[in-house]
Amino acid sequence: MATHVHYDVVVAGGGTAGCVLAGRLSEDPSRRVCLVEAGPDYGALREGRWPADILDGRWLALDSHCWESNDEEDRSQLRARILGGCSAHNACVLLRGADADYDEWGPGWTAADLAPYLERAEKTFATRLLRRDELSPFIAAFADAGGDDTIIHPVNLTEDGIRWTAAFAWVDPARGRDNLTIQADTLVDRMLLEGSRAVGVSTSAGEIRADTVVLTASAYGSPAILLRSGITELPVGENLADHVGTGLAWEPTAALRRDWDEWTRDHALSMGGVTVRIDDLFLFPAVDPGYELSSAVFAMKPRSRGCVSLTSADPRAPLAIDHGFLSDEADVEVLTAGFERLREVGTSLSHYAGRETRPGEDVDAETHVRATARGFFHPTGTCAIGAVVDERGRVYGYENLVVADASIMPTIPRANTNLTTAAIAEKIAEMI
Ligand SMILES: Cc1cc2nc3c(=O)[nH]c(=O)nc-3n(C[C@H](O)[C@H](O)[C@H](O)COP(=O)(O)OP(=O)(O)OC[C@H]3O[C@@H](n4cnc5c(N)ncnc54)[C@H](O)[C@@H]3O)c2cc1C
Repeated sequence: MATHVHYDVVVAGGGTAGCVLAGRLSEDPSRRVCLVEAGPDYGALREGRWPADILDGRWLALDSHCWESNDEEDRSQLRARILGGCSAHNACVLLRGADADYDEWGPGWTAADLAPYLERAEKTFATRLLRRDELSPFIAAFADAGGDDTIIHPVNLTEDGIRWTAAFAWVDPARGRDNLTIQADTLVDRMLLEGSRAVGVSTSAGEIRADTVVLTASAYGSPAILLRSGITELPVGENLADHVGTGLAWEPTAALRRDWDEWTRDHALSMGGVTVRIDDLFLFPAVDPGYELSSAVFAMKPRSRGCVSLTSADPRAPLAIDHGFLSDEADVEVLTAGFERLREVGTSLSHYAGRETRPGEDVDAETHVRATARGFFHPTGTCAIGAVVDERGRVYGYENLVVADASIMPTIPRANTNLTTAAIAEKIAEMI
């Protein structure tokens, strides 16, 4: 690792997309690359310095290395501040969207265009399919109840339970390169602009000059940097989309307690493992430590949109994030129907799922949906292709300024978003 005064490319934000860009761009030894990340970098995995909760991919590390939020009650805003970004604390599910999801993104981004990059991202994430014998009794029963609609998860989780983050997958192989600098614990404030040309970034550690600036600070962080840079003539921060859903819990039966105790004697428990996909809905079970059986349903093609804006010009200030969940009534209808499907699944699992404890049988589906709708941690769309950036990720009206993360998805795919984000970054890396 080396430090240069001037770089060819500065990559702002070291999450999923930033790690991909840093790894790929530094493959060319003549290109000097600087990756700037607000959170810590614990070094190569083999150095043994990564915190245990980040390494343990069987559980979400929800309270670890998070950004401060404008509304601590709103869990939907949760996001990681660490090298690897949200891939460092997420659920390790790697699913592709439907072809139609990508086909609507326009020229250059159809399913056929994206396929080689999805494949490359799957390979680099060391994706493997969970084995049936890794599913705990309740998860396996839920999978059976879903029949042909069940997807056993492809995951970026090693056999021994390590979350294979984007930092391990893309940055670790590049750490020895002289042309790559990783500048952690450094907050990017805004771009340095000379007229319409980006010439670097201003950060908490001073100015970093570069010929090309690539923003990979997420669907929350990238629009924030553009807005702080005074780019207000484009719809930056608008079109925020996340999947919207709600949960349900049951009391475990005596049969489940018995089977669970037996299973955990020689298996490691993990939070999930399967999704049941019915039309545009995802239904899935979750295990919480202790004896709660929970599950959730998400509308995967929501129509509601929200926005990200600044609360202050100070880059340390939390952002104003309004997801706009259920602002389109069509989403209420879809999710209410989905919640009723989830209740039916519970009925078919009566061997394991006893009395409904959350919200309780006396609460009707629509009331529950309206009261508890939340996000899936999949923010997208705030610097969308066709609105803020062109089909090469270049911000309209600016030179040498590219966005290459989840924010450029014009519409949200019907899948968890990590794999698609990595594929986007792989594709844009080739165009820089
Ligand atoms: C709890 C949780 C669980 C999830 N589970 C899954 C899952 O199982 N499967 C799946 O496909 N997806 C999942 N996701 C979503 C997935 O992780 C994201 O879609 C993906 O990480 C987005 O990548 P990104 O590069 O756009 O943003 P991020 O990964 O969020 O990376 C952005 C990076 O930029 C940094 N940054 C932001 N602002 C600045 C700044 N001003 N200066 C410097 N650095 C900055 C951040 O610290 C962060 O490291 C989950 C997300 C969360 C939060």
